[in-house]
Order: sequence, then C-alpha cells, then structure tokens
Amino acid sequence: MPLYYTDYLKKTNTIAKMCGFGYSKYRSQSEDAMRRSTAKREQKLIRDVEKAGAIFDGRKIPDYLRGSEIINKNGASPKTNVEYEGHFLLSRGDHTTKFVDMKLAMEIPSIEENVGAILRRRLEENGIITRRDIGFDLIVGPARGAWPIGKALLKALRYPPGIKDVYARRGVNGNFHLIYPYPDRRDIRTLIVDDVFTTGSSIQKTMLACDESAEEKNRALRKRTKGVKEKPASFYYVAGVVGINRAPDWNKFLLNTITLWIGHALRLETDIWTPDNCELCREGVPLYKV
Ligand SMILES: [Zn+2]
Repeated sequence: MPLYYTDYLKKTNTIAKMCGFGYSKYRSQSEDAMRRSTAKREQKLIRDVEKAGAIFDGRKIPDYLRGSEIINKNGASPKTNVEYEGHFLLSRGDHTTKFVDMKLAMEIPSIEENVGAILRRRLEENGIITRRDIGFDLIVGPARGAWPIGKALLKALRYPPGIKDVYARRGVNGNFHLIYPYPDRRDIRTLIVDDVFTTGSSIQKTMLACDESAEEKNRALRKRTKGVKEKPASFYYVAGVVGINRAPDWNKFLLNTITLWIGHALRLETDIWTPDNCELCREGVPLYKV
C-alpha cells in the first residue's frame, strides 16, 4: 500500500502533534536533516506506543485520513464526512484500510432515507416484498448498530401495520440475547438487519439469539401446560439486509449466504487482515480503534 507509505511522514507528524510534540509545517529547506531525525524519533515513539498496546481513539481520526464520500454515489449529501481511509481495528480484532462511520452516516437524513430506499428496492427485486405482501412480520438485529437500519427500512416502507422491529443485546460472553417481546407464533417471518456485514458472525449470533429465545419460551410453556407437543414459537428467516457489505471475499460471501439471501445498501471493497499479516502494521502505520 504505497499510498500509506508515502503519506507516512505527514501522518506521524500529525500523530506526534496529537501526542503533544511540537511540529510546524512551515520549516525551511535547511532544516531538512533535523526534520528527518525528528520524524525518525516520532516514528519510533509511535511504534513503541503501539508495541505497548496503545490504540488511537477512532473519534480522533485526523482529517487527512478522511477519504472520498462513497455514500455520495447513492445520492446523499456531498458535505458529509463519514468514510475514512487509514489503518483501523475492527471490533472482531481484524485490521482494515477503510471504515465507514455507519452510526454517524445514519444520523444524516438524506443517507438514512437512501439506505432505507435501497434496501426496500433490493427486497422488492428479490421478490421478498411483493405488491400484496411485505414478506416479513418481524425485523431483528443486534442492538444499536442495526437499530437505525431497521428504522430506515420501516420508514421507507411507510411503517406497515403489524410489523415489529426488535433488537438483540450483546451479553457478557459476546453472545446476543433477545430481550424485546415478539409475537408468539410459529414460523414468524423474520428479516435480519445489521449495519455492517464482514464475516456474518453477528447475523449468525442474532439468529441464534432468536432460536434460543423461542426455545426458552417453549420450555416455559411446556412446563406451564405440562407438556405441549407442538412448538408454539419459532422463527423463519426470510432474508437479511445490511447497510454496508464489506465481506472481503465475495465468493466466500456467496457461499456463506447460500441459504439466506443478504442484501446491502452499499458495497465497500476493502482489505481485511488479521493482525499477524497486516501490511500496515508491518509499515508501522498507527492503528485506530473504530
Ligand atoms: Zn494492522
């Protein structure tokens, strides 16, 4: 990634400034040697800080890391800055070069509207939403991230009556739990939503949370009614929709989602590495937590 390598001096200077080191961009040519040695010291400092386990805060991502506005391709406001290019630590521990602040993006009305409209169109194109039928009765997603996506879709569908959206919360062990009430029915047609798809693990965990919740409900009911043979509550997953699909390997994505179609509002092509084979780590580019 030569882009990051050539920009590296500029970056380290800014990072050093953030760390409280003095730096002026108005240096004369004669100070080149001094600048080089300062840059070297700064690079070393950052590497040391990183080695010690420090991760820079995502909220302090400097302006020069902000990339072009990709959401803009879908007609959103050009003035929003929600996409970043750089070296980012994803929640699952992998490193990547691009990051879209979906939470911030969804707060921008034009983007929210667009995401809702695109997801609606995708569901229509795939025959899930038809003229007669919305095709699902329940929207489920991991709490916080999926919430604005679910709301945007419901808005784009003009809040169809009888369709609920519920969200799963992350427990201490990283698994999700469904804590909101949902209809007691067999085969509740469920649409899974999420903000970002990378490997699909949160979608899987959400489905697991649904199944566990139904199982728990059924157990309680069997106990109460002293053994009912029929399963009163269960989920039937019709499809999934996500704000951004950043699955690194498209063929793998298709294989992973062979039983459940997953649509996206936006496709983000990006490199994703494990920390051991991250190119940017090798180049010593500072890592940001997002
Ligand atoms: Zn890295």
